[in-house]
Amino acid sequence: MSDYASLNAAQLKELQTELLEKYNTYKQEGLKLDMSRGKPSPEQLNLSNGMLDVLTSNGTLKAADGTDVRNYGGLDGLPEAKDFFSQVLEVKPEEIIIGGNSSLNLMHDTIARAMLLGVYGSNAPWGKLPAVKFLCPSPGYDRHFSICELFGIEMIVVDMKADGPDMDHIEKLVKEDEAIKGIWCVPKYSNPDGITYSDEVVERFAKMETKADDFRIFWDDAYTVHHLTDEPDRLKNILAACKAAGNADRVFMFTSTSKISFAGSGIGVFASSVNNVNFIKKQLAMQTIGSDKINQLRHVRFFKNIENLKLHMKKQAEIIKPKFDTVLSKLESELGGKNIASWFKPNGGYFISLNTLDGCAKAVVQMAKDAGVTLTGAGATYPYGNDPKDRNIRIAPTYPSLEELEKAMEILCLCVQLVSIEKKLSEQAVR
Ligand code: PMP
Repeated sequence: MSDYASLNAAQLKELQTELLEKYNTYKQEGLKLDMSRGKPSPEQLNLSNGMLDVLTSNGTLKAADGTDVRNYGGLDGLPEAKDFFSQVLEVKPEEIIIGGNSSLNLMHDTIARAMLLGVYGSNAPWGKLPAVKFLCPSPGYDRHFSICELFGIEMIVVDMKADGPDMDHIEKLVKEDEAIKGIWCVPKYSNPDGITYSDEVVERFAKMETKADDFRIFWDDAYTVHHLTDEPDRLKNILAACKAAGNADRVFMFTSTSKISFAGSGIGVFASSVNNVNFIKKQLAMQTIGSDKINQLRHVRFFKNIENLKLHMKKQAEIIKPKFDTVLSKLESELGGKNIASWFKPNGGYFISLNTLDGCAKAVVQMAKDAGVTLTGAGATYPYGNDPKDRNIRIAPTYPSLEELEKAMEILCLCVQLVSIEKKLSEQAVR
């Protein structure tokens, strides 16, 4: 396990020949391994199968307030669903809107409405302004960035630090530029780094001075209960912090059960101040009579209470923790001490973020693809698909089996080593 920086050209070439031989053997196997998207595995989905018959086996199809869930009504969700998710997000039920099957859908529509109609307190719809800009802590979630691209919102990269985004940079930018209307945040077990924002970061978000009066934080708490250890990260409540700072309307919170129950058939949830909730409900009423109450009722009846939800998430963790451990131990055994890559060890969430040497990520992802291992495209974790250092690779360990994952990681680590050797050799040739 030697530091590549200490190897001369002859040693690097020798290593290259040895590793290439291994790589070519894998290539001939015609593998098809996919680590590109954070999808739950079939075993995880099986944990929620009971939800499919909880309604038929559980008597009445009426909600607690007598609503017949088979019929129209209930714009912002069933009372018991609002109550349940208010506990998940630690807000009040009246601060909740239960959406459809996807939080991404809620985020997209929230931006679309802001562009067309403005948000509570806007002087004009955002889309009528000469420019709209969003801050994008990066690496981040590619689909957030795609929404901005779709609506022509200019994205500004902000670096991620060990305890959240670079707040010095954010505070400076939002104080000076009126066109900056929002920021994307995945505050807990962030996608892809697995970082949870510190209390200080949350407080600074709540208190910071913004030039735009209608600035909004898009707080995508997608992984709020997705712990991998018995000592989960704690995230300070942003809505409470915003209220305490006199900026109660600043934050839009989102979450969903996509990685709790069924991906694509879960429940998306929005939470915010009562002002924001009422403002949005008026607009929402033109779009829908209400979301799927049958799905809401079966979720609430299946999970029953927060303690039970936590137990369910422990079962999820029992399935996926060995997969995270496999990825981490392969990274350590194959790349550790070589000074060619670094990675984060998350306490929860769905991803492991790998940083190669600068300028290597694209080549690594392509080389892995050529050997049958599909990863999220290099650059996808940055706005416009452009990772300025070309070094970040997102690993999604949950879907493949353990055996597939071991093999995929061996190939990925081979690719990282081979591309790093190539880089070192060309640097040495230049010198
Ligand atoms: N937010 C984040 C941070 C995610 O990683 C994902 C899924 N990969 C989503 C939102 C999508 O959630 P949903 O299925 O609720 O649309």
